[in-house]
Amino acid sequence: MKKIDLRSDTVTKPTDAMIRAMAEAEVGDDVYREDPTVNRLEEIAAERLGKEAALFVTSGTQGNQVAVLTHCVNGDEVIAEAESHIFYYEGGAMSALAGVQTRTLAGVRGALRAEDVEKAIRSTTNIHFPRTKLICLENTHNRAGGAVITPEKMKSVYEVGQKHGIPVHLDGARLFNAAVALGVDVRELSQYTTSVQICLSKGLSAPVGSILAGDRAFIEEARWWRKKLGGGLRQVGYLAAPGILALTDMTERLAEDHNHAKMLAEGLRNLSLEVEPVETNIVLVKTDSIQTTAVEFLKRLADQGVYAVDFDEYVIRFTTHRHISEEDVQYVLQIVERLLASVPAAK
Ligand SMILES: *Cc1c(COP(=O)(O)O)cnc(C)c1O
Repeated sequence: MKKIDLRSDTVTKPTDAMIRAMAEAEVGDDVYREDPTVNRLEEIAAERLGKEAALFVTSGTQGNQVAVLTHCVNGDEVIAEAESHIFYYEGGAMSALAGVQTRTLAGVRGALRAEDVEKAIRSTTNIHFPRTKLICLENTHNRAGGAVITPEKMKSVYEVGQKHGIPVHLDGARLFNAAVALGVDVRELSQYTTSVQICLSKGLSAPVGSILAGDRAFIEEARWWRKKLGGGLRQVGYLAAPGILALTDMTERLAEDHNHAKMLAEGLRNLSLEVEPVETNIVLVKTDSIQTTAVEFLKRLADQGVYAVDFDEYVIRFTTHRHISEEDVQYVLQIVERLLASVPAAK
């Protein structure tokens, strides 16, 4: 049976060019900063993101947590969107590792409103209060269905941060998806951040790793935190080499994934399913209208070789990526049509 894996863009495997680059990588001990391939990746990434410096980290979670550890001390308060990955999906690491507490604010399709952020910032004169030391943004916003946060919205929050002397960290796991969807250079977005994390291992297809970028002093301190977390790796140029290709060759093709996601969404709507607006490579589908839980529907899909994930009791997430073709999308739509015909309560 054909297997179509729409669980996540993290399932993408390295390209042939990436595998060749891994085999041929020039390496050294990166803890001594002697790995030329890592050094090159970090230079290219900093350039691409418009920052002074960058650090290769093992995962998006490590990049986000190193950022929180670098920006904050125990007892500080961090403002984050209520369904942001850094709050929702990182095992409580912000409180466990950095000892900070999170002030969550509900966003609009993942975007924090600048006025809400400003109201949530703690007065520094009241002895009862913790200190607000960081604002976190996420672009694209995963749980908001791959929603794009516009440069204007990022700017308005960044300016509030500037006004109060509070840095902004961007979880840009899928920041290139946002830039491609907006048709802008990624710096248009990253300019409104103090630090930014991007994933090389999602739609960009590298096997491992993320980048944390910021100014030189921030990255020096982040390097120390990464070492404390056990993230100081040695001949890691073998993993940085495909990361370089992720940044130089793989960003523009994300438009293809976005087209496939839109195609999938349109097809599902034509089958009378309720689908959230699609801006990038994520499609959220509601299953309450067919009186079937996400988990039940996923089981039926899996029986037909189609894989996705549940996002809520009645919400399924499909994620398109490099291994999903237009034919695959059509095939998935045929499967869903057949399943709906067999759901007694459908329509
Ligand atoms: C995947 C993801 C991360 C974490 O990346 P890992 O490499 O899986 O740790 C962080 N933020 C967002 C929005 C993500 O989608």
